[in-house]
Amino acid sequence: MSNTTYDTIIIGTGLGGLVCGYKLAKGGRKVLLLEKNAQIGGCLQTFRRFGVKYDTGMHYIGALDKGQIMYQFFEELNLLKDVHLSRLDENGFDRFNIAGQEYKYASGSERFVETLSRQFPECRLELENYVRRIQDIAEASPLYNLNKAGDSSYLESPYLHSSVNELLASISNNKLLQNILTGNLPLYAGVKDKTPAYVYALLSDSYLQSAWRIVGGSDSIAQSLANSIRSFGGEIRTNSEVSKILCDSDKATSVQLTDGEIIEAKHFITDIHPQRVIQLIDSKLIRPVYRERVQQMENTVGNFTLYLKFKENSVPYLNHNYYYYAEEDVWATYHRQQADPQSFLYMHQCTEDGQEYAQCAEIMLPMDYQEVAKWAGTTTGQRGSEYQEFKQRKAERVLNLLGHLFPGISSCIENYESSTPLTYRDYTGTTNGSTYGILHDKNAPELTSVSQRTKIPNLIMTGQNIHWHGMLGVTVSAMLASKQLTVDS
Ligand SMILES: Cc1cc2nc3c(=O)[nH]c(=O)nc-3n(C[C@H](O)[C@H](O)[C@H](O)COP(=O)(O)OP(=O)(O)OC[C@H]3O[C@@H](n4cnc5c(N)ncnc54)[C@H](O)[C@@H]3O)c2cc1C
Repeated sequence: MSNTTYDTIIIGTGLGGLVCGYKLAKGGRKVLLLEKNAQIGGCLQTFRRFGVKYDTGMHYIGALDKGQIMYQFFEELNLLKDVHLSRLDENGFDRFNIAGQEYKYASGSERFVETLSRQFPECRLELENYVRRIQDIAEASPLYNLNKAGDSSYLESPYLHSSVNELLASISNNKLLQNILTGNLPLYAGVKDKTPAYVYALLSDSYLQSAWRIVGGSDSIAQSLANSIRSFGGEIRTNSEVSKILCDSDKATSVQLTDGEIIEAKHFITDIHPQRVIQLIDSKLIRPVYRERVQQMENTVGNFTLYLKFKENSVPYLNHNYYYYAEEDVWATYHRQQADPQSFLYMHQCTEDGQEYAQCAEIMLPMDYQEVAKWAGTTTGQRGSEYQEFKQRKAERVLNLLGHLFPGISSCIENYESSTPLTYRDYTGTTNGSTYGILHDKNAPELTSVSQRTKIPNLIMTGQNIHWHGMLGVTVSAMLASKQLTVDS
C-alpha cells in the first residue's frame, strides 16, 4: 500500500486524462495519473519506424485560429508555447475523390460556400443554409459553451434525435451534394440513420473554421500537458496498469495495479472505455442493469492503417487531406467490406511548416473487427506469420489503388508498416480497437451514451466515450469532468 493519499487518481493518460490532470493540478489538487503503457498520450502517442515519426490518432485539428474555440482551449491549457501548428490549405483543406470526381472543402464560411458553389451554382443558397445550420447547432450546444453545460444537458439537443443524413436531406435535395457533405465520415465513423446530427455538426463546424496539422507529431500535446502537470506538483506513472477500482459500501477507496500495489485517493477519474471501467469494479454500487447496458453498447468501426516512408525528396508534400470513395453513395461505400478498398483517408505527416516534400504519410480505412477476430488472443508483435501475411495482402491492395490515383507514387515508397484494430485495442485499451468508442444512436440517445457520473459518487468518467470524441470533444469532456469534481468536493 502506498503511503501517500492522493486527492485524485486519474486512470489513463489519453487527452482526457491529461486535461483533467492539468486542470486539477493547476487548481492545487494532489493528482496521480496512471498509464498502462510505457508512453503517455493514448491516441496522442507517436511511434518511430524507418527513422521517421508517425502519429497514431491525432492527424488534424479544427478551430485553432486566434479566438476560435480550440485556440481558446489551447490558451487555457498553455499549449501554444509547445505545440507547433501548420495551417492546411485554406482553399481546400479536405479534398474528396468521390466516384472519380474531385471536390473541396475550403476554410471559412464564405470560402467554403464559394468553392462548392462553383460546382453546384444552383445550390448556393442551400450551401449558405448548410453553413448557418451547422454553426447554429454548434453554438447552441452546451458542449461549445462550457458555462451553460451540465452533465446531461447535451441530451436535450434536438439534434441528438435526428441523424446526419436527415439533417443533410433537410438542407438539400441534391443527392451528390449530400454525399459530398458526408465526405468527412472517417472523422466520426458514423452510421447512416444512427449517428446524431450534433456529432457531425460540432465536428464539421470546427474544421470549417480552420484546419491544422501538428508539426512534428501529436505527442507534443501530451508532453506539454504532462510537463505542466508535473510543474504544478502532479505525478504521472507509466507502466502502471490499473486492474481494480476498490470500493467500500458507498464509494471508491483505492486502485490496485497489476503488480498488486494499492493506491488510495479521495476521488477517481477514468479516461478509459466505460466497458473496461465496469470490468475493473466489483461493487454492488454498480447495478447489474447498468453493467449490462454499458456492456451491450455498440462501438464505432476500427481502422486498418498504413504508414508509408517515402524516398527522400520524391513526393511533393500535400497540404490537404485526401478522401477517396469508389462510389457516390458515401455512407454505403465507407462501410462496404470488400477485398479491394472502397474508401480511405490519405494524409501526409507534417515535419516542418512550409515543407516541400513529404517524408511519410498515413492511409486509414475502416476495418471490421471480425476481419482480425481470429487473432484476438494474441498480443502486439506476437501475432504470427498468418496475421503478417493477411496484413501484407491488405496493404498491397491499398497501395495498388494509391498507385492508380497518384501515378508514379509506388516507386517513391521506400518502406511501409501497418496496423489493425487489434493494435489499437492493445495500445489504448478501447473495445475491439474501435476508432472513436461508443457509437451514438439518434434512435436511442440515452441508451447509447454514458454519463460522466456513476453510482459511485467519487468516480467520474471522461474521454472520448463521454459526450463526444476528437481533440475538441475530449477536451470539452475533460473540462466538464474536472469542473464536476471541483463542484463535488
Ligand atoms: C486512428 C485515429 C485517428 C484519429 N484522428 C483524429 C484527428 O485527426 N483529429 C481529432 O481531433 N481526433 C482524432 N482521433 C480521435 C482522438 O484521437 C480521440 O478521440 C482522443 O485522443 C481520445 O482520447 P481519450 O482521452 O478518450 O483516451 P485514449 O486516447 O483512448 O487514451 C486512453 C489511455 O488510457 C490508457 N489505459 C487504458 N486502460 C488502462 C488501465 N487499466 N490502466 C491505466 N491506463 C489505461 C491507455 O493506454 C491510453 O493511454 C483519432 C482517433 C483514432 C483512433
